Amino acid sequence: MITVKDLCMDFDGKLVLDNVTFDIPEGEIIGIIGRSGAGKSVLMHLLRGVEQPPTRGSVVYHIAACNTCEFTDVQSVAGNCCPLCSGELAAMDVDLWDERSNGLKSRVMHRTAIMF
Ligand SMILES: [Zn+2]
Repeated sequence: MITVKDLCMDFDGKLVLDNVTFDIPEGEIIGIIGRSGAGKSVLMHLLRGVEQPPTRGSVVYHIAACNTCEFTDVQSVAGNCCPLCSGELAAMDVDLWDERSNGLKSRVMHRTAIMF
């Protein structure tokens, strides 16, 4: 699951995203519809963790991460054995734009494909 909370983005004082909040449940397929300039691409960049950080708010990926190797998966498999090693998959929440998440952020980004 991905939790987007109070996401705001402005460029030179122009507000592009204003308190955007939603969850994307695990396995869900979503579409984003909006007129040109509505902020769709900005939102997608923030979800992918690329380009500039948000002015405010968070994007949290709820994942399962192996404590021994780099394997990363959806959170519903937390508690299972890692399919790559004998480690255990632990539930973790990764705040994509929090600098303290940098190690796990790269694991999430390698595991995630968001296309638009
Ligand atoms: Zn492992």
